[in-house]
Amino acid sequence: MLDRLRIVLIGTSHPGNIGAVARAMHNMGLSDLALVAPRCEVIHQESISRASGADHLLHSAARHATLEDAVADCTLTVGASARSRTLPWPMVSPRELAERLPSECQPPASRVALVFGREDSGLTNAELQRCNAHIHIPTNADFSSLNLAAAVQVVAYECRLAWLSTHTATEPSTLHEDTLASHADLERYFEHLERTLVAIEFHDPAKPRQLMARLRRLYLRARPEQIELNILRGILTATEKQTARRQVTQDTSSTHD
Ligand code: SAH
Repeated sequence: MLDRLRIVLIGTSHPGNIGAVARAMHNMGLSDLALVAPRCEVIHQESISRASGADHLLHSAARHATLEDAVADCTLTVGASARSRTLPWPMVSPRELAERLPSECQPPASRVALVFGREDSGLTNAELQRCNAHIHIPTNADFSSLNLAAAVQVVAYECRLAWLSTHTATEPSTLHEDTLASHADLERYFEHLERTLVAIEFHDPAKPRQLMARLRRLYLRARPEQIELNILRGILTATEKQTARRQVTQDTSSTHD
């Protein structure tokens, strides 16, 4: 999905902003950058410095003379705007847009363009009217305009979150489930724990006070991994050994008394 997203910058005038956009994109896993009639040098000391290691995006960026050329192969074009314009247009928040992306980015053909305007004047009405929808980052109404790269960062972050939610929902839990302690292991652990707590006289089965139930709830909430349970059992075994050793010492000293 992320490889279907194109960031289009129109008429950018500061190389530092283009560099910072490249950095924001690479941070969020986006790589398709298109520049429409930039009003500054793209490969510049400032852009390379602000890209902080993502300058390959500056080199691979496509250059176009017009917005139409930059989005010709896109099936959805969304223009980012800090202000509301005279003619109301379908408006989405970054989150609403991101939620639509998994279905909008179905391969093989579809691509989505996210279009950002000039630092001084934003996108023109004509440009905005070439977009399917507009996106506005909810900001302070009295101070609504973000820095260009900050705006790209916010939108790209929401896209990444939406992508993560479709991609990692199964992955981490699959990874995790392989190593999670089983029910039987946990039951053995609870028996061991109770035995040890009795041995160290922390727990009196005659006056349980829901101790074991509370401890069960704690461990079951934590869902320990096998390796973590092994550590906990190791601690119990060491505690039991110490207690037994102390017991022997006490017994021998009392025989000598
Ligand atoms: N001064 C311009 C804003 C320039 S900021 C104006 O008044 O329109 C550069 C670009 O960042 C904008 O064109 C827009 O694409 C994006 N941007 C900045 N703030 C934004 C916001 N709150 N919501 C959506 N996009 C925003």
